[in-house]
Amino acid sequence: MAHEVTLIPGDGTGPELVEATRRVLEATGVEFVWDRQEAGIDEYEAHGNPFPEATLASLVRTKVGIKGPTTTPVGSGFRSVNVALRKELDLYACLRPCKAYEGVRTRYPETDVVIVRENTEDLYAGIEFERGTEGNAQVRACLAEQGATVREDAGLSIKPISVFGSERIVEAAFDYAQRYRREKVTAVHKANIMKFTDGLFLEVARDVASRHPEIEFEDRIVDNLCNQLVSRPEEYDVLVLPNLYGDIVSDLCAGMIGGLGLAPGANVGAQAAVFEATHGSAPKYKGQNKVNPTALMLSGVLMLRHLAEETAADRTERAIADVIRKGEKVTYDLKPRRDDPTAVGTSEFADAVIEEMSA
Ligand code: NAD
Repeated sequence: MAHEVTLIPGDGTGPELVEATRRVLEATGVEFVWDRQEAGIDEYEAHGNPFPEATLASLVRTKVGIKGPTTTPVGSGFRSVNVALRKELDLYACLRPCKAYEGVRTRYPETDVVIVRENTEDLYAGIEFERGTEGNAQVRACLAEQGATVREDAGLSIKPISVFGSERIVEAAFDYAQRYRREKVTAVHKANIMKFTDGLFLEVARDVASRHPEIEFEDRIVDNLCNQLVSRPEEYDVLVLPNLYGDIVSDLCAGMIGGLGLAPGANVGAQAAVFEATHGSAPKYKGQNKVNPTALMLSGVLMLRHLAEETAADRTERAIADVIRKGEKVTYDLKPRRDDPTAVGTSEFADAVIEEMSA
């Protein structure tokens, strides 16, 4: 039976990356019915809304989407499509597998970790009080009543971390470990300093871990984890983190496996899942058929697994890995020198993967 999937090209380099990925996914033989929907800055400029109702409605209906990156202009009151998506569909778990493929130049070839980042709480909840506002003054007055003094010229961001949010993200990490036969889950926190938020996260993580005795569990303080990841990456497997640490450690791990062009992602909730690369829209390369589609293609592999198309997923991942290992038909970022004239474009990389799949 064909899978109906919402296809969101996004903006910047998104449409080129999505097209390359769509061709590879179709070459697996799995049947798709694509419901193409718009989102991003081009859609905003054309119709005044970066995230149209129709796009959300499609995702609610199909429950599965693959998305190109979308630009969020800095300081413009523009609503981030990614934040809106996560909120509207309650995509509470962000999965980011970071695996170093053979042939990629990296100092950390043993890296094979999966980041499970909480997507809805923490300092990203958007609860902020601007310096000098009435709301800010009220919160400071309330804090003063509790004996906590905050300088008058301070901006405030609130960090909510709940039992509900922590429990479902740690469960998601254990589910992932179980499903993909991973051996260990590490909970990452700063509970020594933030006792009532990160401390709560750790307490809940320990409780959830006790319900999964077949999988090893440990915890690490986030700064120590960063140190250890770049010293002994092979010791880590599945990492579960609150939102902010998850964001930062994702980019660290993307760097460790050879760059943003290689890091896939999935935003998953109880009702829907949206698959997209970790990187952004790389607008300076828009329309140049230049950037690396691997991250989005590997996000497509995650989507195939989500759709229980394991054989097609394995075949696609193997073909991508083979193209990278051979190192000939790869994009500029995977060449020893970025100005290597033998680098191929986004579309030719897709051709090479398709050729490898039928070899
Ligand atoms: P970016 O990830 O778009 O690009 C930073 C640099 O990384 C690029 O200039 C390029 O050198 C490299 N790079 C990124 N993707 C690559 C690829 N596929 N192949 C090769 N090299 C690649 O980050 P940015 O410039 O900070 O953000 C641009 C826009 O994207 C911003 O508006 C940001 O808000 C948005 N963004 C969107 C998403 C998303 O849609 N999920 C995620 C992150 C950032």
